[in-house]
Amino acid sequence: MNKPVEPDAALVAVKKFLSRRHKLLIGGEWVDAVNGQTFETIDPATEKVLTNVAKGEKADVDKAVVAARKAFKSGEWPLFQPSQRAKLLWKIADLIEANADELALLESMDNGKPVAYAKVVDVAWSVEFLRYMAGWPSKMEGATIPISFNLAPPTTQFHAYTRLEPVGVVGQIIPWNLPLLMAAWKIGPALATGCTVILKPAEETPLTALRLGELLLEAGVPAGVVNIVTGFGETAGAAIAEHPGIDKVAFTGSTEVGKIIVRAAAGNLKKLTLELGGKSPNVIFDDADIEQAVAGAANAIFFNSGQICSAGSRLYVQDGVYDKVVAALANAAKGIKVGVGTAADTQMGPIVSAKQFARVSNYIDIGRQEGGRISGGKKVGDSGYFLEPTLIADTSDTMRVVQEEIFGPVVTVGRFKDLEDIAEKANDTQYGLAAAVWTRDVSKAHKFAARVQAGTVWVNTYHVLDAALPFGGFKQSGWGREMGRDVLRAYTETKSVVVQL
Ligand code: NAD
Repeated sequence: MNKPVEPDAALVAVKKFLSRRHKLLIGGEWVDAVNGQTFETIDPATEKVLTNVAKGEKADVDKAVVAARKAFKSGEWPLFQPSQRAKLLWKIADLIEANADELALLESMDNGKPVAYAKVVDVAWSVEFLRYMAGWPSKMEGATIPISFNLAPPTTQFHAYTRLEPVGVVGQIIPWNLPLLMAAWKIGPALATGCTVILKPAEETPLTALRLGELLLEAGVPAGVVNIVTGFGETAGAAIAEHPGIDKVAFTGSTEVGKIIVRAAAGNLKKLTLELGGKSPNVIFDDADIEQAVAGAANAIFFNSGQICSAGSRLYVQDGVYDKVVAALANAAKGIKVGVGTAADTQMGPIVSAKQFARVSNYIDIGRQEGGRISGGKKVGDSGYFLEPTLIADTSDTMRVVQEEIFGPVVTVGRFKDLEDIAEKANDTQYGLAAAVWTRDVSKAHKFAARVQAGTVWVNTYHVLDAALPFGGFKQSGWGREMGRDVLRAYTETKSVVVQL
């Protein structure tokens, strides 16, 4: 199934894709934005324009909603059998896999990440996730439920059952850190359950979503079932969030914008799932395998240039090994090869955009002013948004750099005394997305896992995700769960049917 593509072939394919005119996918057709405008997408490694993309706004979202509603109500999609939806998801996964090299290279150029990681993470996980979701259409079962209705004569019999029905037209707004993977996470459950979609990629990284749109058509997704509107958050995104013709919004992005979405969605009380920011505590106890824990801590924060919602961005180290861990982690950070994502030996690419680079750099300055001990923190090279992997050590709990999400390759490092102390510290932010603990003491690990307020807890590992594992946040890290069987709840309505026999 996997069509072997030489790296050169991938480059040829990417160049061909970049030379195309990048339009919006609405009702199965590629169309220009109503306003005729486009915007540039930039390669963060070179600061050069990769290509221009249609700038969708409210009028385009309106058109996409009409197309999505039509496809939801009529035509072939509502008649698709569960097995047909399953086959469609498999077909999409197969096409992504067959074009893996091209997609990985395109992702690397648009987002900056190392092409090798794009292939084994972004592309491979997209394939896995869609195949996992392909198993669900045939298993979307309701239940028969015995009921007692005291207002009817005792001899009356009822047959009651539940049906799971697709929630309808879904708006999906995604961020720039894992562009293709986020698109797959979103369209997978929508197609599995029979919904229709208006997908808005992040303005920083629209390209793999557009290439995915081409593959969706090739796979045979019926017209209007998936519509893709590229554009900016304040216009296209806002139009989706407030649109009265959209039944549900699935949003992944910052907590700040998540709150805007909640307010906008109130107009027609849209169903919402929100996957928001994080400031995840990563905890190393004295009794951990220190070498493994340090390597794990480096991976937890520096993978994808720290631009991962569940990054281990708050490291806490028990007093006895604090100095040793800080020194070893600073050393590991210095050893990370920062460079252009398309180079084979690059371990960490640039930050996604000039804006994000400035934001992350500003936080490093704040950390310095707040009294943190900085290791790294400097710009790398003359062009491109490259930053050294950075530690802000000796932090205290109230510092802004400890409380606020930086979303870059910057880890704060603070001390703790014992389990009681770290349970308090770990929970002392508005976020609750993920957490990790490194220890050889099984009971300590489970006690911490029970105490910490986080949607995912890792023990002696980090960043292990699976399509079958629900993912989402406690507190202000979000509403609802993606992946696993839990995500199906977010895309279906439960209908109770009662029959008097
Ligand atoms: P962002 O919130 O700025 O943007 C995310 C998306 O929302 C983009 O498509 C953007 O165009 C859109 N948007 C912006 N303003 C909008 C508005 N007013 N109305 C509607 N849409 C709007 O986030 P970002 O900077 O792209 O991504 C980084 C954030 O995403 C981080 O906070 C990170 O933690 C979070 N994130 C969370 C998860 C998760 O699963 N919890 C996964 C990845 C990223």
